[in-house]
Amino acid sequence: MEQLKEKYEKFKAWQIKPHEVVKLSAEKHVCATCGTEFHGNYCPRCGQKAAIGRYSFKSAFLLFLDVWGLGNRGMFRTIRDLLLRPGYMIRDYLNGMQMAYFPPFKMFFLLIALSVLVESGLNVKFENTINKTKKESVQGLNDINTNTQINETDANKIVTDTFDIIGKPIIVQTAQNKHNKVININGESIETKILKKLENIVNWIIDNQTLVSFLWLITLSLPLYLFFHKNPNIPDLRYSECFVAMVYITNMMTIISTAGSFFLPGKSTAIELLSYILSIVPMKQLFGFSYKRTIAKLIGAFVLLTIAGITLIVMIVCLGIYLLHLL
Ligand SMILES: [Zn+2]
Repeated sequence: MEQLKEKYEKFKAWQIKPHEVVKLSAEKHVCATCGTEFHGNYCPRCGQKAAIGRYSFKSAFLLFLDVWGLGNRGMFRTIRDLLLRPGYMIRDYLNGMQMAYFPPFKMFFLLIALSVLVESGLNVKFENTINKTKKESVQGLNDINTNTQINETDANKIVTDTFDIIGKPIIVQTAQNKHNKVININGESIETKILKKLENIVNWIIDNQTLVSFLWLITLSLPLYLFFHKNPNIPDLRYSECFVAMVYITNMMTIISTAGSFFLPGKSTAIELLSYILSIVPMKQLFGFSYKRTIAKLIGAFVLLTIAGITLIVMIVCLGIYLLHLL
């Protein structure tokens, strides 16, 4: 038990300060490219690495990764730190340790691309879960649609004859419900039209995950900044810093959920949920509030966002109804 505690204390110390950079050696190098004599790891004139050996598998592999911009700047260290000490890593990055970590936005786009790849078949079951999600959501919308269409059948019967003559939207009363329904020229009700639009929107969201995630991040960062900008660790947090932190936290969540959809394709909802819960950890480590306050603030931010979202939807619906009445 004591040993376990000691190990945990050691781990905690490592989380806060994981590595000391080794001092430069006094060894002199001659640049293999330009011939400049220098101390250190890189030639100050042309950037050539001091340590050059024969090509190894490792250096070849790094060069291969470099094609996608992955070979440099500690991709693996960033993934490890995002999983083991995310909040402290973000603090270090914001404090200027930029060369040690993979840049946040580049990582964001690469990870989303990877997650799409995994969801579209690169997983242990070779299962395309994107198509499945699409089919299911479209099916769900169709179910709603058929329900409303049954109600409209009678209404359509009454108006079929008058359509050709008038050729303009007509207001009819259905037998089942006394609501006024606007039927347009094609015999499609407004509901059907709205559902079709919704179907398009759902498909667009599934097809444009990167853009949607990015827009979602921008939206979410506003209430989060409001709740976290005055914090014990970074008293004068800027919005841009908050946004970078959020991008890294999203990267952490994408790593976890992508691992989930790789090993459990189609059944990764629980892991995705877990990644949301785990996002509390970096918030706590970075801003220094207690877990209780961090959770309270997160809930506050989401409630604010929900209220804002509902207000926006109500406004759009009201505007829509107003425009319909003008027609
Ligand atoms: Zn050189």
